[in-house]
Amino acid sequence: MTEKITAVKGMNDLLPDATALWRPIETCARETLTSFGFGEVRTPILEKTALFVRGVGEATDIVGKEMYTFEDGATGTRAGTLVSLRPEGTAPAVRAAIEHNQLAQGALVRWFYLGPMFRRERQQRGRYRQFFQVGAEIYGAATPQADAELIDAAQAFLSRLDLGAITLELNSLGDSDCRPRYVAALIDALKERAGDLCPECQRRLETNPLRVLDCKNAQCQAVCASAPTIDSFLCDPCRDHFARVRQLLDAIGIAYTVNPRIVRGLDYYTRTVFEFVSHETGEGGLGSQSTVCAGGRYDGLIQSLGGPATPAVGFAAGLDRLALLAARRAQAIPGPELFIAPMGEAAILKALQLAAALRRRGVFVDQDLRGGGLKSQLRRADKVGARFTLVIGDSELDSGKAALKRMADGETREISLDADAIAAAL
Ligand code: ATP
Ligand code: MG
Repeated sequence: MTEKITAVKGMNDLLPDATALWRPIETCARETLTSFGFGEVRTPILEKTALFVRGVGEATDIVGKEMYTFEDGATGTRAGTLVSLRPEGTAPAVRAAIEHNQLAQGALVRWFYLGPMFRRERQQRGRYRQFFQVGAEIYGAATPQADAELIDAAQAFLSRLDLGAITLELNSLGDSDCRPRYVAALIDALKERAGDLCPECQRRLETNPLRVLDCKNAQCQAVCASAPTIDSFLCDPCRDHFARVRQLLDAIGIAYTVNPRIVRGLDYYTRTVFEFVSHETGEGGLGSQSTVCAGGRYDGLIQSLGGPATPAVGFAAGLDRLALLAARRAQAIPGPELFIAPMGEAAILKALQLAAALRRRGVFVDQDLRGGGLKSQLRRADKVGARFTLVIGDSELDSGKAALKRMADGETREISLDADAIAAAL
């Protein structure tokens, strides 16, 4: 036999059972975000590598080691431009907003996106090399109301999905005024116990010390437990902003816990950061891949990508992880309303005509396209879970009537072989 070619590791096929779980999640995201006034933006999957180097940050894991990057220009004569499969959606959305002049002075923009992202990560449950995010961004509002409304949108989306216990954890990362003082204190504290950190974190200590707080390694977490937290380092404006965000969340009834160890893996965040974390345990849970949605404020990003100074806040939710949680409560895909089993050439034609007419009325009709005997056709009707079956043979064609059988209890009733009559009887 010829050798099979398999998918790239960490890149998943979604078969119909899976897409049946995904589609309601995607629909819920689109509907919820639309009702909050977000318009959908679709940007290319490929962007210039420079966008992520500048937008996400060279010292991040994403840019440092996880991007799929290649030279685009193979058919041209000039040396190509370095391009990357997008590892996240915020920098591309910001690029598009700048490029299409959406950020003129005083603009207020609400955008959302939904699509695949690519990171060369170690594949495990809830962590893939192609994964899907839905994200929402508000450009142009520095107010705490914007943070609260964005968090409310994420919460509304997640709670409508009914995915078990999910909690909100909140923190402030300060700004360019107060954060450097905290980072310096953090480095001092971590350096004292650098020997206890994993090799990765020893490297992070030099390149991206905040990210040490986020390491999943138990020993690193133990070191971090005794390190200073950012709350006591916040400057007055950052402290006020954070207090106001909490007050607004309280006012709209959104529960949260303040977790001063929440940082984000991307460099661009300022002030508010948050994560929605799943607490489902056991087989259907997410293990250490438990963060299903993350986001925060990134007031410096738009300017650093060449746009006008514009405050912004956003989130991204991981659809793969949400789908894993949804799978715990998966329901069988509904079968056809009607299964038609024709016997003989003339009946096959009649069945096809009825099926076509019923489908145009929106009825889900199935038949066994392989043909075959009555027994095997009815086995098929059982297998696909049809609600009703209709057998058509010569005598039914002669009389213009047939028996419509309800599969749940076997009850039959005589019905005209007419699409309207059948539709009305289902
Ligand atoms: P983590 O700490 O789990 O690596 P992250 O900080 O890299 O997450 P973000 O870049 O903030 O994640 O992305 C937001 C969300 O997207 C995550 O909370 C998660 O739900 C999802 N996500 C991120 N990376 C992956 C991946 N490789 N596979 C599946 N989902 C992912
Ligand atoms: Mg990550």
